[in-house]
Amino acid sequence: MIKIDSMLLEELKDFMVEQGEKSFRGEQVYKWIFQKGVKDFSQMTDLSVELRGKLQNNASFTYLKPIEIKRDEYDGSQKFLFELEDKNKIESVALKDQDRITLCVSTQVGCRMGCAFCATAKIGFIRDLTAGEIVRQIMEVNEHLATNSEKVTNIVFMGMGEPLDNYHNVVKAIGIITDEMGLGYSHRKVTVSTSGVVDRIDELFKLKKQVNLAVSLNATTDDIRSAIMPINKKFNIEKLMKKLKSLPIQKRKRITIEYVMIKGVNDTLDDAKRLVRLLNGLPIKINLIAYNDGGNENYRAPDEQTVLSFQKYLVDKHITAFIRKSLGKNIEGACGQLYAKYNKGVNDGC
Ligand code: SF4
Repeated sequence: MIKIDSMLLEELKDFMVEQGEKSFRGEQVYKWIFQKGVKDFSQMTDLSVELRGKLQNNASFTYLKPIEIKRDEYDGSQKFLFELEDKNKIESVALKDQDRITLCVSTQVGCRMGCAFCATAKIGFIRDLTAGEIVRQIMEVNEHLATNSEKVTNIVFMGMGEPLDNYHNVVKAIGIITDEMGLGYSHRKVTVSTSGVVDRIDELFKLKKQVNLAVSLNATTDDIRSAIMPINKKFNIEKLMKKLKSLPIQKRKRITIEYVMIKGVNDTLDDAKRLVRLLNGLPIKINLIAYNDGGNENYRAPDEQTVLSFQKYLVDKHITAFIRKSLGKNIEGACGQLYAKYNKGVNDGC
């Protein structure tokens, strides 16, 4: 049965025509789903009883049920564990920073990229999420936040999974999220974060509405990057940098470079120097994130002074570099950790 909330507006209009209805009915249904949050056709009161019955028989809603919500009292971040229709589980994390709430959404159950520092990697790849399952994460979190008069303001595709490994559904989800009749978010508030799937990055820049790009770099030599991010064996640093330098970045837009600092692995001043050389000429900003203990017991976070010295070196070279807090430390904040708690058999090593 077709999932009504996994369709772009144009697809829903076509679906209505297939049902023998006028295409504008698609707009009405779209608004009910994404603007009014209705999950039951019987509540779509401006549709005829006959059409509601037809929809009931031929379409259904994506199932995504919150089964655990954890709040970090220290930093206000919240972690949501959702159950899917097939009983698989995924996570989203809402990170609060003053009046901004950024939701980190998952795009796959597990991930096939195998990054050594990541809890999700230990799960392995199970399946891609549908567009509806991606969008529903935002809707469910917004429903929860509404009780406190809050709402997700920014969306980052940086939860479980590699977004560009589920490109088709991610692009569809972006379409629903940024459609005025859908969730209505500005494309400027949406960021896709990739581990460096070089051959798909171009595609993102062909979208009508350009979203933000973040790249998880995390190392400055191929030896280290290949050791902690196996994708580097396919697309090494040189290929990645060449691709980034060829992108048609709009004026005033910058690529975010994510750099997870791991003690004794990638946190020296030599790394900082190489980073400056690598990124020379690119419109970028860097997020330095001290490793969130828990993804891999062999890795540790660097001490605060190391992170500060690293940042100072970059700033002295006129590079915008922020230190991002490892939010949600008290709620298994690294991606995959809450899932791991529920699947001890898979993740005993965590
Ligand atoms: S860091 Fe991201 S890309 Fe790497 S394994 Fe984890 S979820 Fe996948």
